[in-house]
Amino acid sequence: MGEHKTGRIRTRRSQQRGASVGYPHWWHFRTRAADKGGSLSSKLTAYLSVATFVGGLASDKMLAQTEPEAERPNIIDLPIQWDSNRHDLSLEYIRAHHELIWDKPETVPRMIVIHWTAAPTLQSSFNGFDPVVLPGRNNLQGAGRLNVSAHYLVDREGTIYQLMPETRFARHVIGLNYCAIGIENVGGGDQYPLTKAQFTANLALSKYLLDKYPAIRYVIGHHESPRFKEHPFYRESDPDYVTRKSDPGDDFILRLRNQIGKRAESPPEM
Ligand SMILES: [Zn+2]
Repeated sequence: MGEHKTGRIRTRRSQQRGASVGYPHWWHFRTRAADKGGSLSSKLTAYLSVATFVGGLASDKMLAQTEPEAERPNIIDLPIQWDSNRHDLSLEYIRAHHELIWDKPETVPRMIVIHWTAAPTLQSSFNGFDPVVLPGRNNLQGAGRLNVSAHYLVDREGTIYQLMPETRFARHVIGLNYCAIGIENVGGGDQYPLTKAQFTANLALSKYLLDKYPAIRYVIGHHESPRFKEHPFYRESDPDYVTRKSDPGDDFILRLRNQIGKRAESPPEM
């Protein structure tokens, strides 16, 4: 619970308190005077006083909050293993691949990347991320021993599980891990097409994360990540370290961005 109480939400709460109890007497007086007639100039003065008062209080950020913020969806904690070995392997990966020297494997999220696990159940999907060290996936082994993971895992019927804190480093998208929150979906592909409930959960979770982290600009599908190769966000020391991905596909991600609206930018054109 404590984690989602960001400064932004506190700001909105204090603003709401101000609206109910904090306004001075003249606010009500002038507002009533403006509503109940009087000359045009006295009305104008009244409105200007109110406008100046409100304008003086409101920063751009507060004004932006006239739009409702996304509710935190229901999230169940289901942590994968985190120990000193995973910590060290994360820092090693960050140094070797992103060429960043960090003291802690803690990120500032700037994008959300949507995936599917291609495994049919919650348990089999979880089992893929839980081990600290990458189990025999040969195409990835040469690129470090840190196992792949993600921050969220959405089950077939839409339940959202959190596998690790959102700002902890996770390996799930080449070149962009150090700034990306990963959302995995159980299933996928022709055999287990992602469900409506998963779409709804991804939409709610993405909206919530976009509100929580103002630095997030993009919501992309894993298959779109190669489009960032020339983007300043992309950091990968090995130019040959590339894997072709198809998850979660254009249909899913285009509909998702469309429903999120302009807050989620599309990836660069190839
Ligand atoms: Zn993926």
